[in-house]
Amino acid sequence: MTGVYDFIVIGGGSGGIAAARRAARHGARTLLFERGPLGGTCVNAGCVPKKVMWNAAQIHHALGLAGSYGWRIEQRGFDWAALKRARDAYVGRLNRIYADNLDAAGVRLVRATAGLRGRGQVEGGGQVHRAAHILIAAGGRPSVPDIPGAGLGITSDGFFELETRPSRPLIIGAGYIATELAGMLHGLGSEVTLMLRKDRLLRAFDSVLGETVMTHMRDSGVDIRTGVQCREIHRAADGSLGYRAAGGASDSGYDCVIFAISRHPDSAALQLGSAGITADSGGFIPVDAFQNTAAGGIYAVGDITPAAALTPVAIAAGRRLADRLFGNQPQAKLDYDNIPTVVFSHPPIGSVGLSEAQAAEAHGQARIKVYLSRFVNMRYAVSDHQAPTVVKLITAGARERVVGCHVVGEGADEMMQGFAVAIKMGATKADFDSTVAIHPTAAEELVTLR
Ligand code: FAD
Ligand code: NDP
Repeated sequence: MTGVYDFIVIGGGSGGIAAARRAARHGARTLLFERGPLGGTCVNAGCVPKKVMWNAAQIHHALGLAGSYGWRIEQRGFDWAALKRARDAYVGRLNRIYADNLDAAGVRLVRATAGLRGRGQVEGGGQVHRAAHILIAAGGRPSVPDIPGAGLGITSDGFFELETRPSRPLIIGAGYIATELAGMLHGLGSEVTLMLRKDRLLRAFDSVLGETVMTHMRDSGVDIRTGVQCREIHRAADGSLGYRAAGGASDSGYDCVIFAISRHPDSAALQLGSAGITADSGGFIPVDAFQNTAAGGIYAVGDITPAAALTPVAIAAGRRLADRLFGNQPQAKLDYDNIPTVVFSHPPIGSVGLSEAQAAEAHGQARIKVYLSRFVNMRYAVSDHQAPTVVKLITAGARERVVGCHVVGEGADEMMQGFAVAIKMGATKADFDSTVAIHPTAAEELVTLR
Protein backbone atom coordinates (compact mmCIF):
# COMPACT_ATOMS: atom_id res chain seq x y z
CA MET A 1 0.00 0.00 0.00
CA THR A 2 1.36 3.44 -0.78
CA GLY A 3 0.66 6.95 0.40
CA VAL A 4 1.28 10.15 -1.53
CA TYR A 5 2.55 13.22 0.28
CA ASP A 6 4.15 16.56 -0.56
CA PHE A 7 6.98 16.09 1.92
CA ILE A 8 8.44 13.03 3.62
CA VAL A 9 10.92 13.51 6.45
CA ILE A 10 13.19 10.74 7.72
CA GLY A 11 14.17 11.46 11.32
CA GLY A 12 12.18 13.07 14.12
CA GLY A 13 15.02 14.95 15.80
CA SER A 14 15.79 18.66 15.90
CA GLY A 15 16.00 19.22 12.13
CA GLY A 16 13.32 16.80 10.99
CA ILE A 17 10.61 17.95 13.39
CA ALA A 18 11.32 21.62 12.69
CA ALA A 19 11.12 21.10 8.93
CA ALA A 20 8.01 18.89 9.11
CA ARG A 21 6.05 21.32 11.30
CA ARG A 22 7.03 24.34 9.19
CA ALA A 23 6.12 22.49 5.95
CA ALA A 24 2.74 21.45 7.37
CA ARG A 25 2.12 25.05 8.44
CA HIS A 26 2.66 26.04 4.80
CA GLY A 27 0.00 23.50 3.85
CA ALA A 28 2.22 20.62 2.72
CA ARG A 29 0.89 17.09 3.31
CA THR A 30 3.74 15.86 5.49
CA LEU A 31 4.80 12.42 6.72
CA LEU A 32 7.54 11.96 9.31
CA PHE A 33 9.36 8.75 10.16
CA GLU A 34 11.04 8.29 13.52
CA ARG A 35 12.47 5.00 14.70
CA GLY A 36 13.14 6.05 18.30
CA PRO A 37 11.85 8.57 20.81
CA LEU A 38 10.74 11.90 19.36
CA GLY A 39 13.16 14.80 19.70
CA GLY A 40 16.23 12.86 18.57
CA THR A 41 19.65 13.26 20.11
CA CYS A 42 19.14 16.69 21.62
CA VAL A 43 16.09 15.82 23.67
CA ASN A 44 16.92 12.24 24.59
CA ALA A 45 20.70 11.90 24.78
CA GLY A 46 22.15 15.34 24.19
CA CYS A 47 21.51 18.99 25.03
CA VAL A 48 18.53 18.49 27.32
CA PRO A 49 19.64 15.75 29.75
CA LYS A 50 23.18 17.19 29.53
CA LYS A 51 22.03 20.63 30.64
CA VAL A 52 20.17 19.05 33.59
CA MET A 53 23.40 17.35 34.69
CA TRP A 54 25.38 20.55 34.14
CA ASN A 55 22.88 22.47 36.25
CA ALA A 56 23.29 19.86 38.99
CA ALA A 57 27.07 20.33 38.93
CA GLN A 58 26.66 24.12 38.93
CA ILE A 59 24.44 23.89 41.99
CA HIS A 60 27.10 21.84 43.77
CA HIS A 61 29.61 24.51 42.84
CA ALA A 62 27.34 27.22 44.26
CA LEU A 63 26.94 25.23 47.46
CA GLY A 64 30.72 25.24 47.71
CA LEU A 65 30.67 29.04 47.64
CA ALA A 66 27.74 29.34 50.02
CA GLY A 67 29.88 29.27 53.17
CA SER A 68 31.91 32.30 52.11
CA TYR A 69 28.64 34.18 51.57
CA GLY A 70 27.59 33.44 55.13
CA TRP A 71 25.30 30.50 54.54
CA ARG A 72 25.64 27.70 57.06
CA ILE A 73 24.61 24.65 55.04
CA GLU A 74 25.10 21.00 55.82
CA GLN A 75 25.54 18.84 52.72
CA ARG A 76 24.41 15.24 52.96
CA GLY A 77 25.59 14.02 49.58
CA PHE A 78 24.12 13.75 46.14
CA ASP A 79 21.31 11.42 45.04
CA TRP A 80 22.14 10.54 41.42
CA ALA A 81 19.18 8.14 41.11
CA ALA A 82 16.71 10.83 42.19
CA LEU A 83 18.15 13.30 39.70
CA LYS A 84 18.01 10.70 36.92
CA ARG A 85 14.36 9.93 37.70
CA ALA A 86 13.48 13.64 37.55
CA ARG A 87 15.53 14.12 34.38
CA ASP A 88 13.94 11.12 32.64
CA ALA A 89 10.49 12.38 33.60
CA TYR A 90 11.31 15.78 32.10
CA VAL A 91 12.51 14.17 28.88
CA GLY A 92 9.35 12.05 28.81
CA ARG A 93 7.24 15.21 29.07
CA LEU A 94 9.16 16.72 26.15
CA ASN A 95 8.62 13.56 24.08
CA ARG A 96 4.87 13.90 24.60
CA ILE A 97 4.90 17.63 23.79
CA TYR A 98 6.72 16.89 20.51
CA ALA A 99 4.10 14.27 19.60
CA ASP A 100 1.26 16.69 20.44
CA ASN A 101 2.89 19.47 18.40
CA LEU A 102 3.23 17.23 15.34
CA ASP A 103 -0.35 16.15 15.73
CA ALA A 104 -1.56 19.73 16.09
CA ALA A 105 0.39 20.72 12.97
CA GLY A 106 -1.23 17.91 10.98
CA VAL A 107 2.01 15.99 10.42
CA ARG A 108 1.47 12.25 10.10
CA LEU A 109 3.95 10.38 12.31
CA VAL A 110 5.02 6.81 11.57
CA ARG A 111 7.21 5.23 14.22
CA ALA A 112 9.45 3.09 12.02
CA THR A 113 12.86 2.95 10.40
CA ALA A 114 12.67 4.38 6.90
CA GLY A 115 14.87 4.23 3.82
CA LEU A 116 14.94 5.60 0.30
CA ARG A 117 13.62 3.41 -2.51
CA GLY A 118 14.97 5.40 -5.42
CA ARG A 119 14.06 9.03 -6.01
CA GLY A 120 10.64 10.14 -4.78
CA GLN A 121 9.97 7.00 -2.71
CA VAL A 122 10.49 6.08 0.92
CA GLU A 123 9.80 2.73 2.53
CA GLY A 124 9.00 2.48 6.22
CA GLY A 125 6.59 0.61 8.46
CA GLY A 126 6.01 -1.97 5.72
CA GLN A 127 4.75 0.55 3.18
CA VAL A 128 6.19 2.55 0.32
CA HIS A 129 5.25 6.22 0.25
CA ARG A 130 5.79 8.81 -2.47
CA ALA A 131 6.55 12.51 -2.31
CA ALA A 132 8.07 15.12 -4.60
CA HIS A 133 10.25 16.30 -1.72
CA ILE A 134 12.12 14.08 0.74
CA LEU A 135 14.23 15.31 3.64
CA ILE A 136 16.89 13.21 5.34
CA ALA A 137 17.40 14.40 8.92
CA ALA A 138 18.68 11.17 10.40
CA GLY A 139 21.39 12.63 12.66
CA GLY A 140 24.31 10.61 13.93
CA ARG A 141 25.55 8.44 16.73
CA PRO A 142 28.65 8.36 18.94
CA SER A 143 31.83 6.86 17.51
CA VAL A 144 33.65 4.05 19.31
CA PRO A 145 37.33 3.41 18.60
CA ASP A 146 38.28 0.23 16.82
CA ILE A 147 40.50 -1.12 19.62
CA PRO A 148 40.46 -4.32 21.70
CA GLY A 149 38.11 -4.04 24.68
CA ALA A 150 36.16 -1.09 23.28
CA GLY A 151 32.97 -2.96 24.23
CA LEU A 152 33.88 -2.47 27.90
CA GLY A 153 33.39 1.26 27.48
CA ILE A 154 30.30 3.38 26.96
CA THR A 155 29.55 6.60 25.03
CA SER A 156 27.47 9.66 25.87
CA ASP A 157 24.39 7.53 25.14
CA GLY A 158 25.45 5.13 27.90
CA PHE A 159 26.28 8.02 30.22
CA PHE A 160 22.65 9.09 30.21
CA GLU A 161 21.58 5.54 31.13
CA LEU A 162 23.85 5.25 34.18
CA GLU A 163 21.79 4.46 37.29
CA THR A 164 24.61 5.31 39.67
CA ARG A 165 27.38 7.88 39.62
CA PRO A 166 30.67 6.38 38.46
CA SER A 167 33.19 7.09 41.17
CA ARG A 168 36.33 6.80 39.03
CA PRO A 169 35.51 7.41 35.35
CA LEU A 170 38.05 7.55 32.53
CA ILE A 171 36.91 9.84 29.71
CA ILE A 172 38.65 9.57 26.35
CA GLY A 173 38.34 12.49 23.93
CA ALA A 174 39.05 16.20 23.61
CA GLY A 175 35.97 17.91 22.16
CA TYR A 176 32.65 19.21 23.40
CA ILE A 177 31.42 15.98 24.97
CA ALA A 178 34.65 14.95 26.70
CA THR A 179 35.02 18.45 28.18
CA GLU A 180 31.40 18.66 29.30
CA LEU A 181 31.21 15.16 30.78
CA ALA A 182 34.51 15.58 32.62
CA GLY A 183 33.34 18.87 34.14
CA MET A 184 29.93 17.50 35.11
CA LEU A 185 31.19 14.29 36.65
CA HIS A 186 33.90 16.14 38.55
CA GLY A 187 31.31 18.66 39.71
CA LEU A 188 29.10 15.83 40.96
CA GLY A 189 31.92 14.30 42.98
CA SER A 190 33.57 11.73 40.72
CA GLU A 191 37.34 11.31 40.54
CA VAL A 192 37.75 12.04 36.82
CA THR A 193 40.63 11.13 34.51
CA LEU A 194 40.50 12.76 31.07
CA MET A 195 42.68 11.25 28.35
CA LEU A 196 43.69 13.40 25.35
CA ARG A 197 45.61 12.00 22.43
CA LYS A 198 47.00 15.49 21.69
CA ASP A 199 48.06 18.40 23.89
CA ARG A 200 44.92 20.44 24.40
CA LEU A 201 41.17 20.31 24.87
CA LEU A 202 38.87 21.87 22.27
CA ARG A 203 41.47 22.37 19.56
CA ALA A 204 38.74 23.48 17.13
CA PHE A 205 38.26 26.66 19.21
CA ASP A 206 40.41 29.69 19.91
CA SER A 207 43.37 28.34 21.88
CA VAL A 208 42.76 30.51 24.94
CA LEU A 209 39.47 28.71 25.61
CA GLY A 210 40.79 25.15 25.82
CA GLU A 211 43.93 26.27 27.66
CA THR A 212 41.96 28.17 30.30
CA VAL A 213 39.45 25.37 30.90
CA MET A 214 42.23 22.79 31.06
CA THR A 215 44.21 24.77 33.61
CA HIS A 216 41.14 25.34 35.74
CA MET A 217 40.07 21.71 35.55
CA ARG A 218 43.52 20.57 36.58
CA ASP A 219 43.63 23.07 39.45
CA SER A 220 40.30 21.80 40.69
CA GLY A 221 41.42 18.17 40.64
CA VAL A 222 40.67 16.61 37.25
CA ASP A 223 43.52 14.34 36.16
CA ILE A 224 44.13 15.38 32.52
CA ARG A 225 46.62 13.19 30.67
CA THR A 226 47.84 14.59 27.35
CA GLY A 227 49.53 12.84 24.45
CA VAL A 228 48.02 9.46 25.35
CA GLN A 229 46.61 7.40 22.50
CA CYS A 230 44.51 4.58 23.92
CA ARG A 231 45.22 1.21 22.26
CA GLU A 232 43.23 -1.14 24.47
CA ILE A 233 40.68 -1.28 27.26
CA HIS A 234 40.76 -4.34 29.51
CA ARG A 235 39.38 -5.72 32.75
CA ALA A 236 42.21 -5.71 35.31
CA ALA A 237 42.84 -8.46 37.85
CA ASP A 238 41.08 -6.44 40.59
CA GLY A 239 37.94 -6.20 38.41
CA SER A 240 38.43 -2.55 37.55
CA LEU A 241 38.80 -1.24 33.99
CA GLY A 242 42.20 -0.34 32.64
CA TYR A 243 43.85 0.94 29.50
CA ARG A 244 47.02 0.37 27.57
CA ALA A 245 48.31 3.21 25.41
CA ALA A 246 50.70 3.63 22.50
CA GLY A 247 54.25 3.67 23.85
CA GLY A 248 53.42 1.23 26.64
CA ALA A 249 51.76 3.46 29.27
CA SER A 250 48.97 1.75 31.16
CA ASP A 251 46.71 2.26 34.14
CA SER A 252 43.65 0.73 35.79
CA GLY A 253 41.28 1.33 38.69
CA TYR A 254 38.42 2.86 36.68
CA ASP A 255 34.79 1.88 37.14
CA CYS A 256 33.62 3.39 33.85
CA VAL A 257 35.28 4.23 30.52
CA ILE A 258 33.51 6.81 28.36
CA PHE A 259 34.47 7.37 24.72
CA ALA A 260 33.76 10.92 23.52
CA ILE A 261 35.73 10.95 20.30
CA SER A 262 33.16 12.47 17.89
CA ARG A 263 30.00 11.29 16.21
CA HIS A 264 29.22 9.87 12.79
CA PRO A 265 26.11 9.39 10.64
CA ASP A 266 24.45 6.02 10.75
CA SER A 267 23.06 5.84 7.26
CA ALA A 268 22.95 2.12 6.38
CA ALA A 269 19.14 1.92 6.63
CA LEU A 270 18.71 5.02 4.48
CA GLN A 271 19.72 3.20 1.28
CA LEU A 272 21.27 6.39 -0.09
CA GLY A 273 22.69 4.56 -3.11
CA SER A 274 19.19 3.70 -4.33
CA ALA A 275 18.69 7.39 -5.08
CA GLY A 276 22.21 8.02 -6.38
CA ILE A 277 23.48 9.76 -3.24
CA THR A 278 27.05 9.07 -2.15
CA ALA A 279 28.15 9.89 1.37
CA ASP A 280 31.56 11.55 1.88
CA SER A 281 34.49 9.76 3.53
CA GLY A 282 33.10 10.54 7.00
CA GLY A 283 29.67 9.16 6.08
CA PHE A 284 28.10 12.65 5.85
CA ILE A 285 25.70 13.58 3.05
CA PRO A 286 27.11 16.45 0.95
CA VAL A 287 24.62 19.27 0.35
CA ASP A 288 24.75 22.66 -1.37
CA ALA A 289 23.84 25.96 0.28
CA PHE A 290 20.14 25.16 -0.17
CA GLN A 291 20.42 21.72 1.50
CA ASN A 292 20.04 19.97 -1.91
CA THR A 293 21.75 16.58 -2.15
CA ALA A 294 23.07 15.23 -5.43
CA ALA A 295 19.62 13.70 -6.07
CA GLY A 296 16.84 16.03 -7.23
CA GLY A 297 13.99 16.34 -4.71
CA ILE A 298 16.07 14.90 -1.85
CA TYR A 299 17.51 17.19 0.83
CA ALA A 300 19.49 16.76 4.03
CA VAL A 301 19.87 18.89 7.16
CA GLY A 302 21.51 18.61 10.55
CA ASP A 303 24.11 16.20 11.87
CA ILE A 304 23.93 13.95 8.83
CA THR A 305 25.49 16.78 6.79
CA PRO A 306 29.02 18.12 7.33
CA ALA A 307 27.64 21.33 8.94
CA ALA A 308 28.19 22.27 12.59
CA ALA A 309 26.47 19.58 14.63
CA LEU A 310 24.30 21.85 16.77
CA THR A 311 20.58 21.73 17.42
CA PRO A 312 19.77 25.32 16.39
CA VAL A 313 21.67 24.75 13.13
CA ALA A 314 19.59 21.68 12.28
CA ILE A 315 16.37 23.51 13.23
CA ALA A 316 17.20 26.65 11.26
CA ALA A 317 18.28 24.70 8.16
CA GLY A 318 15.10 22.58 8.33
CA ARG A 319 12.80 25.59 8.67
CA ARG A 320 14.51 27.51 5.85
CA LEU A 321 14.20 24.46 3.61
CA ALA A 322 10.46 24.14 4.33
CA ASP A 323 10.04 27.88 3.67
CA ARG A 324 11.81 27.48 0.34
CA LEU A 325 9.91 24.39 -0.79
CA PHE A 326 6.43 25.24 0.47
CA GLY A 327 6.43 28.83 1.72
CA ASN A 328 7.03 30.69 -1.49
CA GLN A 329 10.49 31.85 -0.37
CA PRO A 330 12.70 30.58 -3.21
CA GLN A 331 15.90 32.08 -1.79
CA ALA A 332 15.45 30.86 1.79
CA LYS A 333 18.61 29.22 3.11
CA LEU A 334 20.62 29.19 6.29
CA ASP A 335 23.64 31.49 6.54
CA TYR A 336 26.23 29.26 8.21
CA ASP A 337 28.57 32.16 9.10
CA ASN A 338 29.03 33.31 12.68
CA ILE A 339 27.17 30.50 14.40
CA PRO A 340 27.47 31.06 18.14
CA THR A 341 28.11 28.08 20.38
CA VAL A 342 28.53 27.25 24.03
CA VAL A 343 30.55 24.47 25.62
CA PHE A 344 28.96 23.65 28.96
CA SER A 345 32.29 23.19 30.66
CA HIS A 346 33.24 24.36 34.15
CA PRO A 347 33.61 27.28 33.69
CA PRO A 348 31.52 27.52 30.53
CA ILE A 349 32.68 28.77 27.14
CA GLY A 350 30.80 31.03 24.72
CA SER A 351 32.22 31.59 21.28
CA VAL A 352 31.22 33.15 17.97
CA GLY A 353 33.19 33.81 14.82
CA LEU A 354 36.82 33.15 14.00
CA SER A 355 39.54 31.99 16.35
CA GLU A 356 42.72 34.07 16.33
CA ALA A 357 44.43 31.49 14.12
CA GLN A 358 41.50 31.40 11.68
CA ALA A 359 41.31 35.20 11.58
CA ALA A 360 45.02 35.48 10.85
CA GLU A 361 44.65 33.00 8.03
CA ALA A 362 41.52 34.63 6.60
CA HIS A 363 42.58 38.28 6.91
CA GLY A 364 46.38 38.19 7.25
CA GLN A 365 48.21 38.50 10.57
CA ALA A 366 48.98 42.19 9.98
CA ARG A 367 45.30 43.10 9.53
CA ILE A 368 43.92 41.58 12.71
CA LYS A 369 43.95 43.00 16.24
CA VAL A 370 43.44 41.00 19.40
CA TYR A 371 41.99 42.38 22.65
CA LEU A 372 42.10 40.22 25.73
CA SER A 373 41.28 40.58 29.39
CA ARG A 374 41.71 38.08 32.24
CA PHE A 375 40.00 38.61 35.56
CA VAL A 376 38.19 36.90 38.39
CA ASN A 377 34.40 37.18 38.38
CA MET A 378 32.96 39.14 41.34
CA ARG A 379 31.09 35.98 42.26
CA TYR A 380 34.38 34.98 43.92
CA ALA A 381 34.89 38.35 45.65
CA VAL A 382 34.48 36.92 49.15
CA SER A 383 35.71 33.41 48.43
CA ASP A 384 39.14 31.75 48.42
CA HIS A 385 38.05 29.83 45.35
CA GLN A 386 39.04 31.75 42.20
CA ALA A 387 37.76 30.60 38.80
CA PRO A 388 39.18 32.48 35.82
CA THR A 389 37.35 34.55 33.23
CA VAL A 390 38.97 35.41 29.91
CA VAL A 391 37.30 37.58 27.28
CA LYS A 392 38.82 37.97 23.84
CA LEU A 393 37.85 40.02 20.81
CA ILE A 394 39.45 39.69 17.41
CA THR A 395 39.00 42.46 14.84
CA ALA A 396 39.96 42.65 11.19
CA GLY A 397 40.74 45.48 8.81
CA ALA A 398 41.04 49.24 9.21
CA ARG A 399 37.44 49.57 10.43
CA GLU A 400 38.14 46.89 13.01
CA ARG A 401 35.11 44.74 12.30
CA VAL A 402 34.73 42.20 15.09
CA VAL A 403 35.31 38.79 13.54
CA GLY A 404 35.68 36.71 16.69
CA CYS A 405 34.38 36.92 20.25
CA HIS A 406 35.34 34.31 22.82
CA VAL A 407 34.62 34.10 26.52
CA VAL A 408 35.44 31.49 29.11
CA GLY A 409 34.13 32.03 32.61
CA GLU A 410 31.06 32.26 34.77
CA GLY A 411 28.06 33.36 32.71
CA ALA A 412 29.71 32.94 29.30
CA ASP A 413 26.90 30.59 28.30
CA GLU A 414 24.23 33.27 28.69
CA MET A 415 26.45 36.09 27.43
CA MET A 416 27.12 35.11 23.87
CA GLN A 417 23.69 35.22 22.21
CA GLY A 418 23.43 39.02 22.24
CA PHE A 419 27.01 39.55 21.14
CA ALA A 420 26.34 37.10 18.29
CA VAL A 421 23.58 39.41 17.03
CA ALA A 422 25.97 42.36 17.00
CA ILE A 423 28.68 40.41 15.21
CA LYS A 424 26.22 39.03 12.67
CA MET A 425 25.21 42.65 11.96
CA GLY A 426 28.84 43.56 11.29
CA ALA A 427 29.64 45.42 14.53
CA THR A 428 33.03 47.11 14.79
CA LYS A 429 35.25 47.62 17.82
CA ALA A 430 34.01 51.24 17.84
CA ASP A 431 30.42 49.97 18.14
CA PHE A 432 31.43 47.83 21.12
CA ASP A 433 33.26 50.82 22.67
CA SER A 434 30.29 53.15 22.21
CA THR A 435 27.97 50.75 24.04
CA VAL A 436 27.49 51.69 27.68
CA ALA A 437 28.60 48.95 30.04
CA ILE A 438 26.31 47.09 32.44
CA HIS A 439 28.00 47.16 35.83
CA PRO A 440 29.01 45.06 37.68
CA THR A 441 28.96 42.16 35.25
CA ALA A 442 31.54 40.04 33.49
CA ALA A 443 29.99 40.89 30.11
CA GLU A 444 30.89 44.57 30.48
CA GLU A 445 34.54 43.65 29.94
CA LEU A 446 33.69 43.08 26.27
CA VAL A 447 32.73 46.72 25.78
CA THR A 448 35.63 48.16 27.79
CA LEU A 449 38.55 46.30 26.19
CA ARG A 450 41.63 48.39 25.46
P1 FAD B 1 19.04 13.98 15.69
O1 FAD B 1 18.56 14.94 16.68
O2 FAD B 1 20.08 13.03 16.02
O3 FAD B 1 17.76 13.28 15.07
C1 FAD B 1 17.85 12.27 14.12
C2 FAD B 1 16.67 11.33 14.32
O4 FAD B 1 16.56 10.49 13.19
C3 FAD B 1 16.84 10.42 15.53
O5 FAD B 1 15.73 10.56 16.38
C4 FAD B 1 16.92 9.02 14.93
O6 FAD B 1 16.30 8.04 15.74
C5 FAD B 1 16.17 9.20 13.62
N1 FAD B 1 16.54 8.26 12.57
C6 FAD B 1 17.81 7.98 12.13
N2 FAD B 1 17.75 7.14 11.08
C7 FAD B 1 16.43 6.88 10.87
C8 FAD B 1 15.74 6.07 9.93
N3 FAD B 1 16.41 5.38 8.98
N4 FAD B 1 14.39 6.02 10.00
C9 FAD B 1 13.69 6.71 10.95
N5 FAD B 1 14.31 7.49 11.87
C10 FAD B 1 15.65 7.58 11.81
N6 FAD B 1 23.74 20.80 20.41
C11 FAD B 1 23.51 22.04 20.86
O7 FAD B 1 23.16 22.93 20.07
N7 FAD B 1 23.65 22.35 22.19
C12 FAD B 1 24.02 21.42 23.10
O8 FAD B 1 24.14 21.72 24.29
C13 FAD B 1 24.26 20.10 22.65
N8 FAD B 1 24.63 19.14 23.52
C14 FAD B 1 24.84 17.88 23.08
C15 FAD B 1 25.23 16.92 24.00
C16 FAD B 1 25.46 15.63 23.58
C17 FAD B 1 25.89 14.59 24.60
C18 FAD B 1 25.28 15.28 22.22
C19 FAD B 1 25.51 13.87 21.76
C20 FAD B 1 24.89 16.23 21.29
C21 FAD B 1 24.68 17.54 21.72
N9 FAD B 1 24.31 18.55 20.83
C22 FAD B 1 24.10 19.82 21.27
C23 FAD B 1 24.18 18.27 19.38
C24 FAD B 1 22.69 18.10 18.99
O9 FAD B 1 22.11 17.11 19.81
C25 FAD B 1 22.60 17.70 17.52
O10 FAD B 1 23.31 18.61 16.74
C26 FAD B 1 21.14 17.66 17.05
O11 FAD B 1 20.39 16.76 17.81
C27 FAD B 1 21.10 17.27 15.57
O12 FAD B 1 19.78 17.20 15.13
P2 FAD B 1 19.40 16.28 13.87
O13 FAD B 1 17.96 16.52 13.62
O14 FAD B 1 20.36 16.46 12.78
O15 FAD B 1 19.63 14.79 14.39
P1 NDP C 1 34.06 16.77 18.83
O1 NDP C 1 34.16 16.85 17.37
O2 NDP C 1 33.68 17.98 19.59
O3 NDP C 1 35.45 16.31 19.47
C1 NDP C 1 35.95 15.04 19.31
C2 NDP C 1 37.44 15.09 19.54
O4 NDP C 1 37.89 13.86 20.07
C3 NDP C 1 38.20 15.28 18.27
O5 NDP C 1 38.22 16.62 17.90
C4 NDP C 1 39.57 14.72 18.63
O6 NDP C 1 40.33 15.76 19.25
C5 NDP C 1 39.23 13.65 19.68
N1 NDP C 1 39.35 12.32 19.09
C6 NDP C 1 38.89 11.89 17.89
N2 NDP C 1 39.21 10.59 17.70
C7 NDP C 1 39.89 10.21 18.80
C8 NDP C 1 40.47 8.98 19.20
N3 NDP C 1 40.43 7.91 18.41
N4 NDP C 1 41.08 8.93 20.40
C9 NDP C 1 41.13 10.01 21.21
N5 NDP C 1 40.60 11.20 20.87
C10 NDP C 1 39.97 11.29 19.68
O7 NDP C 1 33.08 15.56 19.10
P2 NDP C 1 32.18 15.17 20.35
O8 NDP C 1 32.01 13.70 20.24
O9 NDP C 1 32.71 15.75 21.60
O10 NDP C 1 30.81 15.88 20.01
C11 NDP C 1 30.18 15.67 18.74
C12 NDP C 1 29.49 16.92 18.29
O11 NDP C 1 28.28 17.10 19.03
C13 NDP C 1 30.28 18.18 18.53
O12 NDP C 1 31.18 18.45 17.47
C14 NDP C 1 29.22 19.25 18.64
O13 NDP C 1 28.93 19.74 17.36
C15 NDP C 1 28.03 18.48 19.20
N6 NDP C 1 27.92 18.79 20.63
C16 NDP C 1 27.58 20.08 20.97
C17 NDP C 1 27.51 20.43 22.29
C18 NDP C 1 27.16 21.84 22.65
O14 NDP C 1 26.66 22.56 21.79
N7 NDP C 1 27.42 22.28 23.86
C19 NDP C 1 27.77 19.48 23.37
C20 NDP C 1 28.10 18.16 22.89
C21 NDP C 1 28.18 17.84 21.57
P3 NDP C 1 41.93 15.87 18.99
O15 NDP C 1 42.11 15.84 17.53
O16 NDP C 1 42.28 17.17 19.65
O17 NDP C 1 42.50 14.67 19.69
